[in-house]
Amino acid sequence: MLLTLQNYCLTVVYKPGPEMYISDMLSRATTPPQETDTHYRREMVCSMQQEQYDTTAIQQADYLNVTSQCLAQIRKYTEEDSCLQTLKAVVLGGWPEHKEDCPITIREYWGIRDEIYAQDDVLFRSQRVIIPKTVRPEMLRRIHYNHVGGEACYRQARDTLFWPNMQGEIKDFVQQCSVCNEYAHEQQKETMMSHPLPTRPWQLVSMDLFSYARQNFWEIDLLPDLSAGRCKAQFARYGIPDRVISDCGGQFDCREFKAFAMDWGFEHVMSSPRHPKSNGKAESAVKIVKGLCRKADRADEDPWKAFLHWRNTPTEGMRCSPAQRVISQRLRTLLPVVDQLLLPHVVTGVTDKLRVKHRAAKLIYDRSARDLPELSVGQHVRMKPLPSDRTGRWKRGVCMQQVGL
Ligand SMILES: [Zn+2]
Repeated sequence: MLLTLQNYCLTVVYKPGPEMYISDMLSRATTPPQETDTHYRREMVCSMQQEQYDTTAIQQADYLNVTSQCLAQIRKYTEEDSCLQTLKAVVLGGWPEHKEDCPITIREYWGIRDEIYAQDDVLFRSQRVIIPKTVRPEMLRRIHYNHVGGEACYRQARDTLFWPNMQGEIKDFVQQCSVCNEYAHEQQKETMMSHPLPTRPWQLVSMDLFSYARQNFWEIDLLPDLSAGRCKAQFARYGIPDRVISDCGGQFDCREFKAFAMDWGFEHVMSSPRHPKSNGKAESAVKIVKGLCRKADRADEDPWKAFLHWRNTPTEGMRCSPAQRVISQRLRTLLPVVDQLLLPHVVTGVTDKLRVKHRAAKLIYDRSARDLPELSVGQHVRMKPLPSDRTGRWKRGVCMQQVGL
């Protein structure tokens, strides 16, 4: 109330009881006869409005920071707006007792009926101008003049303008703005989708060009050339995996590799372009191998010895080493070890442990992620610019078909 009153310059005047017309009438005009109820109410509202006009003579429009031309435009369109004319009639004539008796076109104003008033043929909700329907598109353009986000636009507009569902319409308008869409922000990351967990060693193999890798175990080989046949050495040693995951680099996304997959009978899945996370196992293996190589180089040591020790070290949270999981035995290293411990021993419960690890990782990842609505064929989309695209513009596109899950 104090904030509202700051707009006015007040002079407080003492009025004796008999001159307090409104409160006097309210206290005396109690429970009028039923049949004349509406009549009484109307009279009361009229006398209150008369008194308000007589005594205040404050023109809300004088305090509006709009040009008289703009106000005239709002006034003109308010007069042409049948819904606002009904609203005005109800505001001046008094609201009905029940919402059901209120004309259907203005029911959305029911919840705020106490704040609405008409002045100078313009309708206001408190200090906000109620904008007629025909002027709303123009107002939306003005609100979004500086192309800031929907929330900021609404914050700017809500102090001065009002119409039902203004917030929703502002949001839609900003979402459809082609200029903003060209310079969009990246979408919210989606919740984690994991590949199905393997139930036995070498069932699922992730590959990347630096190394051959698989769930938690990786295999490293020097590649004199980049042909698909290089995998054969690994597959001949450990068997053919059920499924191979790779990125869509030229060495994997080619006829030769497709023929190799067909010939050797495994399923080949490629990760989405520019989404390396979906080949995360290989990506992280590459990171580890690079780290080992770099440090071995720096210390002038043999990197193969480093790989040997890494493969023999129990993985965090697993209680067994990569070597134990793949070939069911510890590897002999330069560390002294009892012969007994080098005998083959099958490690069980690996899938369960992996599941627990995955669940925990997903829980943490999904905290800051949410699923986006699925795209439909024919839907208009904006494509994130390639890193090489200096303009940074999100280009328009159309969703053609669903190619993967
Ligand atoms: Zn915009």
